[in-house]
Amino acid sequence: MPKSSPKSLGRIVTSFWVFNLVLGIFVIGAWLFSSNPAVRTLFISPTPSLTDTPTFTLTLTPTNTFTPSATHTITQSPVPTETFTPSVTPTETVTPIPYSEGPITIGYSVQKRPLEVYRFGTGKTERLIVAGMHGGSEFNTIQLADQLMAYLKDHPEIVPTDVSLYILRDLNPEGEARAHDYNGRANAHNVDLNRNWDANWQKDWPRDNCWTYTMVTGGTGPMSEPETKALAAFIQSRHFDALINYHSAALGIFAGGLPPDDYSIRLAKAVAAVSTYPYPPVNIGCMYTGGFTDWADEKGIAALDVELTDKTHTD
Ligand SMILES: [Zn+2]
Repeated sequence: MPKSSPKSLGRIVTSFWVFNLVLGIFVIGAWLFSSNPAVRTLFISPTPSLTDTPTFTLTLTPTNTFTPSATHTITQSPVPTETFTPSVTPTETVTPIPYSEGPITIGYSVQKRPLEVYRFGTGKTERLIVAGMHGGSEFNTIQLADQLMAYLKDHPEIVPTDVSLYILRDLNPEGEARAHDYNGRANAHNVDLNRNWDANWQKDWPRDNCWTYTMVTGGTGPMSEPETKALAAFIQSRHFDALINYHSAALGIFAGGLPPDDYSIRLAKAVAAVSTYPYPPVNIGCMYTGGFTDWADEKGIAALDVELTDKTHTD
């Protein structure tokens, strides 16, 4: 049997220890790699990716106790016992017209003062009184209108049931405001409002025997003045069958018209019969042009002027 030489025995021992060293290094390396992420990342670069689908697990815990309830719906067909036919009884809504009304503004003067009308009575027959046409120079006609309206308020019974009486207390408020003498006769355009109507109108006229204290005119043409236009429009918007225009003073009753129609003459005679004013009037020889009552008579309205006895009293 060959003897083992000491030289080969040394090689065997050396190989054994080398093998053990390599094995130990491998074991230690494997342990470090598997237990330490920092070491792992040295060798594997992680590629993060979200590939997981979150999974939710819902656990239902019953908390309510469900108690079934029943609702009974009773469907009942109506049994007609009575046929109700609503009968419409037309109730006529009649708004009673008040006995008096006003002021009703029918227009404005040159300087925009209101021209105001008052009504008394509710009848279908319409009648009109106009005062203040010559403003402050005949202010007593305005006072008369005011006294008459106060009396009519206290004595509504004197207005016949078939009559509505309209009163225009002051057709010339500028003249009334200017002066209570002859300077208050014309309007703000120096126009005599009883010479401005479309009835034998003239801008100027023969002054012989006529009123000549100031040189008033008849206007730039017939119906040129706002006061005249407003009164004419008001009259034509209604159905007056008679009117009285108050002036002063002293000449009596003038029937409207060129010449007067029968209806104006009858009215003049009727007023004369119940008053102290003369008809026919005093003739002073003046030719009257553009007169209001002449215009009204031509429109079919019985019309007259009444001249109060003086320029201060209301008679
Ligand atoms: Zn007058």
